[in-house]
Amino acid sequence: MAVIDEDAMTNEAAFARACTSLVGGVNSPVRSFNAVGGVPFFVREGHGSYVVDVEGRRYLDYIQSYGAIIHGHGDQRILSALYEAARRGTTFGAPTLGEVRLAESIKAKVPGVDLVRLTNSGTEATMTALRLARGVTGRSKIIKFEGCYHGHSDALLAASGSGVASLGLPASVGVTAAAVHDTVVLPFNEVPQIGEDIAAVIVEPVAANMGLVPAAPGFLSQLRSLTTQAGALLIFDEVITGFRVADGGASTLFGITPDLWCFGKVIGGGLPVGALAGREDLMAQLAPTGPVYQAGTLSGNPLATAAGAAALDQLNVASYRMLAGRAEQLALGLTKVIEEADLAVQVQRVNGLLGLFFADEPVTNYRQAVASVERGVYPYFFHAMLKRGIALAPGPYEILFPGLAHTVDDIDKTIDIASAAAAEARDQWHQHH
Ligand SMILES: *Cc1c(COP(=O)(O)O)cnc(C)c1O
Repeated sequence: MAVIDEDAMTNEAAFARACTSLVGGVNSPVRSFNAVGGVPFFVREGHGSYVVDVEGRRYLDYIQSYGAIIHGHGDQRILSALYEAARRGTTFGAPTLGEVRLAESIKAKVPGVDLVRLTNSGTEATMTALRLARGVTGRSKIIKFEGCYHGHSDALLAASGSGVASLGLPASVGVTAAAVHDTVVLPFNEVPQIGEDIAAVIVEPVAANMGLVPAAPGFLSQLRSLTTQAGALLIFDEVITGFRVADGGASTLFGITPDLWCFGKVIGGGLPVGALAGREDLMAQLAPTGPVYQAGTLSGNPLATAAGAAALDQLNVASYRMLAGRAEQLALGLTKVIEEADLAVQVQRVNGLLGLFFADEPVTNYRQAVASVERGVYPYFFHAMLKRGIALAPGPYEILFPGLAHTVDDIDKTIDIASAAAAEARDQWHQHH
């Protein structure tokens, strides 16, 4: 058997090789280093809060699969659940109790959820949410907010955030005018007029794909009352916030109940899972009980649902208290050392989620986020951190994901390193500006 000696491989060599078989060397553009320059490190393995690259370098990891990992890499209970499920078969195309268990875990933690449809990704969940909203209301138009990301389906690729924002594209080539014709894009944190032609308003209740931008006081509750008045549905895209900002998610944290929820990331325990969830009268309109079609060969697959249920079962109020504590420690520390380096910084945080803006004032919408990113500090800070062993996302619109495996010492170490990194980033930025 041919053995690839991964230990002898460099990131440069891995990337060069990847580029000959994978587009841009990656399978999702957020993983490329286009926004920060340089070559991505290739992960060999990850344990808890750390990842190790193919050169054997260890990084304290704040990417954590963009929020899909909350218990740290290689969590024992998730791995055991996976082995146990795999021994019994990986997919059947017939229902299994594993799917039921994951749906029950979601229901148990999110008041207002009666029924769940599992998918393989967050994108499928949001895509289905729109179809369902249009199906039940008989209306075509949907409202989304600038800088909120809801996956890569055509109708939602209208001026979206995250990877697309990093690439500097307002939407994507290949999305037709017709596909986004019924998508109304409005500024985040400005309460919109909602007409009776609107099927749904979709929102990240904490925007986490344009950096971390909390909803302004009253924004979500106004969306709730205005959608109800207009007969439109309110969709919370909780693919990041779900089971991350609180036990349940943003709806339980803020006490605002949407009509439909989209979940993903945390609920898969590191495997591909998404979910659409909501009230019975709405969800029952999906096939096979209703006329709105939706399907998936691997949806609710035994491995993914086993991992997801094992992830959710370990989460409780104490987990979220701990996570918020770590994130607070990190936010306070980063603010202090970056300001000491004479860089204007806003570390914005909602419980366990935080994001970093190099900006003078708090960022409340996409335009401000873009203005902060255009200062161009982030790439220098990113590389100064990376070479000292701290892995942040290679894009300025991404956020940090401290997890339950991050220790107080990990955070202290991060802050110490950030002190040196901020000074270096400041000097390099001044040289180039
Ligand atoms: C990641 C994300 C999605 C898309 O989920 P995928 O699993 O990547 O398709 C949708 N909405 C939000 C808020 C996300 O962060």
